Amino acid sequence: MKDRIGWMVLYLNCATADLYEVMREEAPPGLQLLFLDSGRSEEVREKLPRADAILIADAALTAEMIQQAAKLKMVQHQGVGYERIDVKALAKAGVPLALCPAGTDEAVGEHTVLLMLAALKRLVAAHDAMVVGKWLRWELRMSTRDLYGKTVGLIGFGRTGRAVAKRLRGFGVRLIANDPYITLSDRERAEFGVTLVSKEIVLREADIVSLHVPLTEETRHLIGRPELAQMKPSAVLINVSRGGVIDQPAVYEALKGRRIMAAGLDVFSPEPLPAGDPLTTLDNVVLTPHIAAGTLDAFRTKLRFALGNIARVMGGEEPLERVLDT
Ligand code: NAD
Repeated sequence: MKDRIGWMVLYLNCATADLYEVMREEAPPGLQLLFLDSGRSEEVREKLPRADAILIADAALTAEMIQQAAKLKMVQHQGVGYERIDVKALAKAGVPLALCPAGTDEAVGEHTVLLMLAALKRLVAAHDAMVVGKWLRWELRMSTRDLYGKTVGLIGFGRTGRAVAKRLRGFGVRLIANDPYITLSDRERAEFGVTLVSKEIVLREADIVSLHVPLTEETRHLIGRPELAQMKPSAVLINVSRGGVIDQPAVYEALKGRRIMAAGLDVFSPEPLPAGDPLTTLDNVVLTPHIAAGTLDAFRTKLRFALGNIARVMGGEEPLERVLDT
């Protein structure tokens, strides 16, 4: 284990002091953690040449930064969405990128169902009214719905889509999904209780449309004006993937004009969503600040996996959950 001593892991993100403490608790011996706010580019530039591994979440990792990190042996993502990492530059440098679905899937699965229920049952409106002394017992009745008996349509049926499907099993919904890049065996179809259909059928038939795709050139504005026009006026839109997957102004207009019933959004373009953004003025939207995979439980699970994976590579093994292109 002597070559396990002294790997310097650069944490390129902005967390809080108590989260850094959790990270220290989860770090296997031999890993030295250096926490850097990714916004402080001078300091990042100075420390990059010392990094054996980079642990990263939302921060960008550019070709220039990869070039500066001459000792870099692996990049470990703390989650799964890596559109801000220059994968080609990593491949050129021979540095693997590994993801961290552990912890992410479960938390995102739960958060998605939370947003569905909160939007359908107008949880935030009920709570806000009570805080100011209003008892809307009857008033909320006309605008609230159950998940039971509805058609849920997932766009993207990878890890997080499947995590949602598993959690929906007890809710008595009909589940359809669109994902042109996968096939499912009979066993998987039965396990998830899902039918794969076209995107058009999801948009037309789903009472809840939930997005679970990566942000790519193809998925940018996957939900824009034409798609919103195909959705039911009673439909709820859920986005826990990336802000760029929806045309945000178009979604705002559809919500404002009640052309769809409601939305539950965890991701935005840009992030943070500016204070006073039009979306924050609506009463038919539930907003959370990109926290779908951000519970303390998920953080611990993710960090345990991520740091363990770095230690694994330090010990001479292949990383788990390696992105194929790297
Ligand atoms: P995944 O790679 O396991 O699954 C994505 C699925 O989308 C794949 O099956 C793929 O075939 C499918 N897909 C790609 N393009 C498509 C298209 N045009 N139409 C339909 N399906 C398409 O990824 P995942 O783990 O499910 O995560 C999905 C995305 O969610 C991530 O890339 C990330 O950006 C985001 N995410 C956000 C949070 C959060 O905290 N809000 C947490 C985890 C993941």
